[in-house]
Order: sequence, then structure tokens, then C-alpha cells
Amino acid sequence: MLDLHVHLLGHLDREATKSNIRAFLKQAKNKNLKQIGFADHDMYWEKLKLNLLREIALEYPELQVRVGLEVDYQEGRENQISKMLTDFPFDYVIGSVHQLGGWFFDYPEEETNHRQWEPDDLYSAYFKLVEKAAASGLFNIIGHFDLIKIFNVRPKTDVRILAARALEAVKDCGLAIEINTNGRYKPVQEYYPEQKLIELIGKMEIPFTLGSDAHEAAVVGRDIQEACQILKTLGVQEIVSFTRRNQEIIKL
Ligand SMILES: [Zn+2]
Ligand SMILES: [Zn+2]
Repeated sequence: MLDLHVHLLGHLDREATKSNIRAFLKQAKNKNLKQIGFADHDMYWEKLKLNLLREIALEYPELQVRVGLEVDYQEGRENQISKMLTDFPFDYVIGSVHQLGGWFFDYPEEETNHRQWEPDDLYSAYFKLVEKAAASGLFNIIGHFDLIKIFNVRPKTDVRILAARALEAVKDCGLAIEINTNGRYKPVQEYYPEQKLIELIGKMEIPFTLGSDAHEAAVVGRDIQEACQILKTLGVQEIVSFTRRNQEIIKL
């Protein structure tokens, strides 16, 4: 199995040293992963040591190590992102919406601000940006597709309707959506995306991938087996990964 959403640096909690890299790879092995993908936040790009990652990966020949990036998508950032992506040979790029017009809405202290919104407006504003991220052509994967639910503020309208255009853009532009198991450990206490969206994504034949969003070694691979089982139950037979931005199919 695989985990493509791993933050070696956390939120700059540590540096990309040999021993820190080994701790993550060791945990991937302990979790029986066949593949691990590092995808640190793009704001730390100066601290990334891609060559060191590839060098230490050679010590673990039984493990496929991919090197990606999680990009914080904002309108108007496309050119800057595009330049950053051409400078480094990433295996894949996760596009994630963490902010609405400069408001970083997923910080723990932001819950009260969520409750001041009309919930449908909040979701619409969020999914509009996800749609633009997908349509930008910059990314391979959309990260934590319904992150806006983080504090369990739910829309009045069915989320599948509010997310419809974003999903169409994902489908049309050939992106994958991850099951991100980290949502279970947030106030909302469920994976991103939620079950009925997972079912819809499966029906639309949008490819899935898997990520723990680990910000420390101990979390690598967390709940990945269970996420796999959810997909199998839905009849999904394969997921995807990426090498040098090319999609590869992995049988479940
Ligand atoms: Zn994220
Ligand atoms: Zn992340």
C-alpha cells in the first residue's frame, strides 16, 4: 500500500537530516507500505533536500520513495507556482486550498470564524477555489478535498451539489483525489472526503490515491489500510501514484 501525503519537515518541527528521513522510512516499512511519498508544504521549499531524500531512499530498496510537494493554492499564484514546479523534478504535486482570500481557515483558533458564515456560502467559496486549483493544470492530486468541514460546520445544501463543479474540473483535467485519513483526528472526526463524496468520486471514475497527511514519523501510514478497505467495498480496484508527474496504476 502507499502513503503519498507525508510532511518530513512537519511545520518546520525538524530539518531534512539523514536520521529524520530514516525515521519516516522505517515507519513506512513497519506499516508494510510499498511506497511512501514526501510532500512537504511549498512554503518551505528552501528547506527541501530532494537529493538527500533520493540518496537515503537507496538504503531501503524494498520501499519505493516518491518526492512530491503540497502546494497552497491561491488565485493569482499560478505563475509563481508554475515556475517553482519547473525548477524541481517532482514526482507529483498536491494542490490544496488552505485559505480563502488570505484567511487560513484550518488553524485551530479559526472555529468561531467558521460559525459566522452562512454555511452554504462558506462551502461555495471553498469549492470555487478547489475548482480553480483543479483547472489550473498545475497539480496531479487535490489534497483533503472537503477540508472546509474541518470544524464540523455542515452546509444546508447537499455537499455533493456544492462540490459538483469542482469534481467536474477534477475529472476533466485528469487529477486524482486522495483519501486523506488525517480528518479523523480533527474536530470533524472523519476522513477527507466524507463517505458520500467518496462514493460519488468512485461513480465518476475519478482516480483515488491515499495519504495520511503525517507531520511526524509515527503517523506515516495511519489508517491507510482502512481507507483501502473503504475503496474495495465500493468496488474500486485500483488507485494511482505518480513518477515524474506521470500517473501509474496500482492494483488494490
Ligand atoms: Zn494541506
Ligand atoms: Zn498536508
